[in-house]
Amino acid sequence: MATLTFCGAAGTVTGSCSRLDTNNGSFLVDCGLFQGNKTAVKLNYEPFPFDASQQKFLILTHAHIDHSGLIPKLVNRGFNGPIYCTQTTAELLEYLLRDGAAIQQSNTKRKNKKNLRRGLPEVEPLYTMEDAEAALALVTPVNYEESFNPTPEVTVKFWNAGHIIGSASAEVKISGETGDDCPLRLLFSGDLGPDEKVFHPEPDAPEGFDYLICESTYGNRDRDDYTLKGRREALRKELIEGLERGGNVVIPAFAVERSQELLHDIGVMLEKGYLKDATVYLDSPLAKKVTHVFQKHARGLDDMGVEPENLFKHKQFRLIESVDDSKKLNQVQSGAIIISASGMCDAGRIQHHLKANLWREDCTILLVGYQSPGTVGSFIQNGFDEIRIHGLNIKLRAEVRRLGNYSAHADQGELVNWIMERSPVIGGLFLNHGEDQSRETLRAILDEKGIEASKIHCPQFDESFELSASCAISKGRSKQTRGNDTLPAFDYHNQYAELNIAINNKLESDASDEEKAKILEAMKAVLDGK
Ligand SMILES: [Zn+2]
Repeated sequence: MATLTFCGAAGTVTGSCSRLDTNNGSFLVDCGLFQGNKTAVKLNYEPFPFDASQQKFLILTHAHIDHSGLIPKLVNRGFNGPIYCTQTTAELLEYLLRDGAAIQQSNTKRKNKKNLRRGLPEVEPLYTMEDAEAALALVTPVNYEESFNPTPEVTVKFWNAGHIIGSASAEVKISGETGDDCPLRLLFSGDLGPDEKVFHPEPDAPEGFDYLICESTYGNRDRDDYTLKGRREALRKELIEGLERGGNVVIPAFAVERSQELLHDIGVMLEKGYLKDATVYLDSPLAKKVTHVFQKHARGLDDMGVEPENLFKHKQFRLIESVDDSKKLNQVQSGAIIISASGMCDAGRIQHHLKANLWREDCTILLVGYQSPGTVGSFIQNGFDEIRIHGLNIKLRAEVRRLGNYSAHADQGELVNWIMERSPVIGGLFLNHGEDQSRETLRAILDEKGIEASKIHCPQFDESFELSASCAISKGRSKQTRGNDTLPAFDYHNQYAELNIAINNKLESDASDEEKAKILEAMKAVLDGK
């Protein structure tokens, strides 16, 4: 009997990794990085709760790092099987895994410099460029909607998931598991896109599975006004108002897909003459490379509104590569729309652009993506007085604006529709890749729609289920589990960062020196347990 284990993205939205143990060996679906606060990131350094060398193959639903980012570590720990994904995912991985390795190596170098000064031991990077190269050598691209057999007992087929370029849901059939001639049929949704999105048609897959494993990122959220037209209109309004403030408009954006969506939407506006005097900079070497992947596959993209050969080629676009050109941007005082990564402002060139623009009242920071609690982006979103970047506290005087209608994920209604369209679900439905509140809300709605609540599972981190053709039985959490059953969205590191800023604000306020001294004494007394 097959066993399904959720080794990540259970009760959270990162670290996607599911393992199937069958009568004929084990394999994985996705192997993603844990992202967010330090508690989550620490999990990346824990041993895998399985023997990497014993996994026969890996099915990768899409290139996002929270689904693919631990693959080089997996290879380092002995995995040597094929990595199946779509052709475009394979092309994106070439950039993302190498980029990830370079970040790992430079972060480790910086940390070891610090550790040396403090007399602490050296740390190892999570993985190296050699590991990334070894992983890339295992990548085996396959076409959408074409069956393939990683082993004689397993048949897999990829379906469009409409989430990002190359994204797929994976249909998996395993023979020899049900006690009769019928194979066990599973469908892993991967991340699902919304019904209306530039570049991709809505998600598609067949129906009638024993088990559905579905993401639930927006299980408790319905978006309004996110038609392409509505979204462009909202962006146009923000950009015009931002430029009218007199300074620059800085947009933190993920390098994969979000940067290209923005660039494309802004290109449509430029064509229509809405932003005559603006120059649009895409300043992220990774986003630039990903942009070329989009250009290469332009003929296969949906809802373009421009000729494929003209995609991202407007004369007011500047795609920045060199560090020098990036630095020069800091001298630009007005009329620039700067799109840069990372999307949550925790790393990358966006931090330099924030340093140059955050403190200026005539500038605008336009947030277009989810800002995980504790990230620099979340502090900007929450309107903190000061933002800490590169060890400096910078006054936040720029106008902070937020656009909630850009998303690569299906919302609640779309998730419900996708699941209902796949029904009947015979054995069970697993809701993963979502926080507990999202999953519980979705479960209640699906119960009302007629999917028995007892068949809807919200797996915990490292929980295993035995899968018969008719029902799933939990075997509980693995003994090798790497943490609590759920991850805290806001950990003590986040609390510490907040407290630090609050102390700084108090010490720089108009309070008298006596008052300031009293506060420090009171805090010291607490620390001393008095
Ligand atoms: Zn994704």
